[in-house]
Parts: sequence; structure tokens; C-alpha cells
Amino acid sequence: MEDFLLLEMPIFKPKYKKWKRYGYANAEEKKNLKAALEKSTGGYCMYCFSRIKVDQKLFANLEHAIEKGNSDKLVECIPNIGLSCTLCNQTFKRIGERKRKLSDKMVRQYEENSKCSVENRKQCTIACKELRRLQKSYSGLPGAEIILQPMGIKGSDSGEELALQYNVLNMIFEPAKGRHTYSDKELNFIDTHINRFRLNDSQYRTRQLYDFVQNVIDSNK
Ligand SMILES: [Zn+2]
Ligand SMILES: [Zn+2]
Repeated sequence: MEDFLLLEMPIFKPKYKKWKRYGYANAEEKKNLKAALEKSTGGYCMYCFSRIKVDQKLFANLEHAIEKGNSDKLVECIPNIGLSCTLCNQTFKRIGERKRKLSDKMVRQYEENSKCSVENRKQCTIACKELRRLQKSYSGLPGAEIILQPMGIKGSDSGEELALQYNVLNMIFEPAKGRHTYSDKELNFIDTHINRFRLNDSQYRTRQLYDFVQNVIDSNK
């Protein structure tokens, strides 16, 4: 199929500034984090691509990719915090949360080996080795078929980044098989993500979604 009929959705890669502080609990740090994340999305939800910025107002929540209830260290872990619309944050993402709770062993491994501590936070701009390892364990749990944001995740079989593409002809989101080779398990993982966030559900499809797709088209020109 022609390339332009398959639009790969971007992986959100925020540009954090060295001279700024980012965080979740502190108001100023939170503001900085929201701004950096918002910029990387162009004003769209990282999970469902609906518009979160309207007339300079931001309708979005900071969203902990791996739920912060799993470990205190995750609360302020910057690469673990994305930006999403209220619906994704409070409804779609929550489904199956209990089923995918990390085991004590996984949490202990992460807490003991990651370099940051709750008292002495590091301003990480990319996921550290231990967060990556934790993401891997998390993604293998039932009900955790979620392409975590920001910065996405890699497939456990192919090592390719898990991505979506918009199929212009069929008007559906699907795994980005145009540019990636995924295993059946990975394809299933991405399809489950698509279903979770209702990306192909006409009830949730908005004009804004097509605007987003149009923006992707424009930025690829
Ligand atoms: Zn959303
Ligand atoms: Zn860290």
C-alpha cells in the first residue's frame, strides 16, 4: 500500500529543559511538566488523540503510566508521567487496574535498584534502566496492554517500538505494521490498546481526531 495511506502516529517525546524542575506534587513543577508534555503532543491526549487544549485552556490530567499506587517512587518519576484527557485518565486507563497490580517482588526490585529516592529526586528525562525493567514486567501483566506514554514502549518479542498507524482508506487505527514487524502477541497487544482507548469506536470519534490525523499528515509533508 502507498505510504501516505498509512500514517504512523507519533511517539510523544517531551523535551525537558535542564534548568527547569519538573514534578507532580509541587505546583510550580507540575505546571512545568504539564507545559513540556503539552508541547510534545501539540495539544492532544497521548492516548486517544482528542483535543486537550482549547483557547489556551488545558483540559488534561497528568497521567502516571504505571499507576502511582504501585510505589511511592513512581509518584514523582518524570518519565512515568504523561498527559491525557480526563476520560482516558479517569475511565479508560483505569480498566483492569487491579488485575495488573505489580507484585511485591517487582516493586522491591525497582525500589532497591533505581538510583533516585523519594527524598532525593532525580530529574530524569528518560526512563532509567530500572524503570524500563519495571515497564517490561508491567506490560506482561494481564490487563496491561497499554502503550505507555510518554516515550512509548518496545515490544517484548521484536524489540520494535509499539506504534499505531491510521489507515486512511479503511479509516481505522491499527498496529503500525507498515514500518514495523511485530509478533502476533505484539499485534494483539496493540489491538487491545486500540480497543481500550476506543480509537475505532464511532461514539468517541470526534472531528478533533481527524484534525489530529490531518496534523500528522501536514507534519509529514
Ligand atoms: Zn484521551
Ligand atoms: Zn528515575
